[in-house]
Amino acid sequence: MKLLENKTVLLTGASRGIGRGIALKLADYGANVAFTYLSSEAKAKELEQELFSKGVKAKAYHSDAAENKAAEQLVTDTLAEFGKIDVLVNNAGITKDGLLMRMSEEQWDSVIKANLKSVFNLTKAIQRPMLKERKGSIINITSVVGIRGNAGQSNYAASKAGIIGFTKSVALELGSRNIRCNAVAPGFIETEMTAALDEKTVNQWRESIPLKRGGTPEDVANLVLFLASDLSSYITGQVVQVCGGMLT
Ligand code: NAP
Repeated sequence: MKLLENKTVLLTGASRGIGRGIALKLADYGANVAFTYLSSEAKAKELEQELFSKGVKAKAYHSDAAENKAAEQLVTDTLAEFGKIDVLVNNAGITKDGLLMRMSEEQWDSVIKANLKSVFNLTKAIQRPMLKERKGSIINITSVVGIRGNAGQSNYAASKAGIIGFTKSVALELGSRNIRCNAVAPGFIETEMTAALDEKTVNQWRESIPLKRGGTPEDVANLVLFLASDLSSYITGQVVQVCGGMLT
């Protein structure tokens, strides 16, 4: 019996990067995967096929995690298709970097909405069905930047710090119902999000990391697998870093 057999996972933002890595890893361990994308339709359909080939049930949903009504509809549709949701992974996120001096209100609002409000939207929508089941695992993808801040990313850091406060509060509210809520804080993970950085900056990041490399989506997915599974059944309200020792 595989670790996540008979479990359904709802995962936001899986068309690329870390989300895609999480979807593939959880499917390897038997999970059925409902996942979302926003603009990368072809990549989402490709992932859906890859997941099928692993012998699990999978479905790609076009859904904007930042929109409350869309999140509610997504949970309704997933329940109709999969019957239950055991694990929610809030992964969707964006960056719109800039020094505060030059940061526009739009840059601030859009990042807070896509990164933080999205986590509220999905968690709120999934709360009732998980309460009914009297179990569940919610995993929120934050960032080391939410713990220590980062020049040029005040909007992103604030959204990720907000996720940590939200995660701990939800863990306190829902623990008595056997619903766990944890946050995963990746460090420097090499995806399209980081591909926007120039090579010199990337090398500086790599050099500053004790393990001397950027992380991979799989490094993050391995931790999500653990938190999604019953192996972590006594762990809630925690923020676990996957950063090669960067934030030590
Ligand atoms: P990425 O390669 O840019 O992928 C982002 C994913 O999120 C895409 O699948 C995108 O979908 C989706 N997405 C964005 N906004 C969305 C929305 N409103 N609704 C639904 N889906 C949406 O990013 P990544 O590097 O994999 O990052 C994934 C998560 O890890 C983010 O929360 C990020 O903040 C966090 N993180 C990343 C790093 C890193 O070093 N890469 C470090 C710490 C934390 P479409 O392609 O369809 O638009």
